Amino acid sequence: MPPASGPASSPVAGFSPSANIAQLRESATIAVSQRAKALRAAGRAILDLGAGEPDFDTPELIRASATAAMNAGATRYTPTEGTLALRAAVAKQATALRGRGETIGANEVVVSNGSKQSIFNACFALFGAGDEVLIPTPAWTSYYEIVALARATPVSVLGDEHRGFRVDPEMLAAHATSRTRGLLLNSPVNPTGTVYTQDELRAMLDLAERHGWWVISDEIYRRIAYEHPASSALEVAGSRARLIVADGVAKAYAMTGWRIGWTVAAPDVTRAMAALQSHTTFGASSVSQAAAVAALEKAAAVDPLVDAMVREFRVRRDAAVALFRSEPALQFVPAEGAFYVYFKAPGAGRIADAGTAFAATLLEQHDVAVVPGVAFNTSDWVRMSYATDLKTVETAVGRIVAAWRAEHSMAHANT
Ligand code: GLU
Repeated sequence: MPPASGPASSPVAGFSPSANIAQLRESATIAVSQRAKALRAAGRAILDLGAGEPDFDTPELIRASATAAMNAGATRYTPTEGTLALRAAVAKQATALRGRGETIGANEVVVSNGSKQSIFNACFALFGAGDEVLIPTPAWTSYYEIVALARATPVSVLGDEHRGFRVDPEMLAAHATSRTRGLLLNSPVNPTGTVYTQDELRAMLDLAERHGWWVISDEIYRRIAYEHPASSALEVAGSRARLIVADGVAKAYAMTGWRIGWTVAAPDVTRAMAALQSHTTFGASSVSQAAAVAALEKAAAVDPLVDAMVREFRVRRDAAVALFRSEPALQFVPAEGAFYVYFKAPGAGRIADAGTAFAATLLEQHDVAVVPGVAFNTSDWVRMSYATDLKTVETAVGRIVAAWRAEHSMAHANT
C-alpha cells in the first residue's frame, strides 16, 4: 500500500504551526545527541559530549524488581497521579528531607513521565498569559520553552559568570515586576554544574515567599554533587505553600529511559496537576513505577551504587577540569555537581553566537559533539557532558582545548 502521506520531511500543503507552537524551538540538548548518534551510525567516530544522560546501566536490583512486577501483573493502567506505592515512597523521602516534624503525604505527589513532564504540569497549572517567570540563566533549554507553552513570559536573570553564574536575591529582585508570578530554581545547575549552598537557596526562597511567587525547584541532579551535598528546597523553604519540587529517578539511578519523574507540592496544586495529566498522558508506565519504588525503597542496597556512580563522575570531572585548567585563557565554570562543564567559546566577544560556531567546528573538524550555549540562553558559551567513559572524556576535552587554543591564538594574531 502506498504511504498515506509523503515522507516526514516533505512540506504538507497549507500547514503552518498553530499559535501554541509557532515560536517553539526543538530541544537543542536532544537534537545534538540525536545528531551525534546519526553521524555515528553513518560511520563517523563521534565523541559524544552532548548527551545529558548517565552512561551507566540501571542497577540490576532495580531491573529485577521491574521484571518481577511485570510478571506479577503490573501491566495495566495505574492511577493518574501514580501508584500509591511510589507516591508513598516519594512522600517518605520528601518527609525525611523536610525534617522539622512535618509529614508530607502521598496526596502531595504526582508521578509523571519524567521530570520534564512534572515541570510542564507545574508551569501549565500555575502560569498563564501575562505572567512572568524568573529563570536564573543559563538554564536548561526546556524551562524557557515550557513557560512559553503556558503562554507566560520567561524572564532570564543572568548570573555572574565569575561566580559560576550564581544568581542572588538582588539580581532576582532587579528583574521582578508586578507581573512576576514564579521562579524556576535548579541546583545542581544544568548546564553549569553550580551547586547553591543552603544559605543561597534560602535567601532566594525567602524573597519568593515575601513576594508570593510560586517556586518550582528542579532537583533532578541533587544526588550528583562533589564539594558539598546539594540541598533540596524542601530542607530550607520556610513555607511549602507555594513550593513545587520536581525530581525523578533518571539521573541518580541511571534510569533516563524509564521515564519517571514527580512533583511534591501542596494538595490543591497536586490535584490540579493530576487533573491536567489525566487529559494528556494519564498514569506513567506501570513497570517503570515499580522499578522506581525499588530504587527508593531498597536504599541500603541501591545507595552505595549511586555513590559509586557519583565517584566515577567525579574522576571524570577532575580529568576534564585539569585539561581546561591547562589553558589559562580558557574560562570555564568549575563544575561542583551534575555532569557538565560549561566553558566560554574562543570567539566570545568577537562574533555573534560564538558558542554555536565553536560547537560546529568541534563537530565538523574534531568529531566532538557538544551543546551550544544559545540553548541555555548564553550564546558565548558551550556545554560539554562528561557522562561518558573517562578515556572519551580525556580525548574529547584534549581536542576541545587544542581547538580552543588554535582559534584563540589565531584571533589574537589577527588583532
Ligand atoms: N536534561 C538532559 C540534557 O540537558 C537530557 C535531555 C533533555 O531532556 O534536555 O541534556
